[in-house]
Amino acid sequence: MPIYSYIAQDSEKSCAACRRGFDLRRPISRPALENCPLCKQPVKKLISGFNTPKVTKPLSVSDAKSAGFTILEKRCDGNYEKL
Ligand SMILES: [Zn+2]
Repeated sequence: MPIYSYIAQDSEKSCAACRRGFDLRRPISRPALENCPLCKQPVKKLISGFNTPKVTKPLSVSDAKSAGFTILEKRCDGNYEKL
C-alpha cells in the first residue's frame, strides 16, 4: 500500500498536523485525499522522493561495454555478432 504525504494548502487555517505535513497510507484505488482528516482544511499531495522510481536512462552499447558486458547483436542471417 503506497504512502502519500500531504501538507496544508493554507497553513494559516490548518491544524498542527497538516501544517507540517503528514503521511497517510492509502489503498491506490482510493481517490486522493483533498482535506485534512483532522481540521478539514484543503491539503495537497506531496511528491515523495522515496516512493518515486528513479528514472534511469537506457543503457547504451558503449555504456554496457564499459561496464564489462558483451553486446551481441542479432544479424539477419540468424547468427549473433559480437560488437
Ligand atoms: Zn489539519
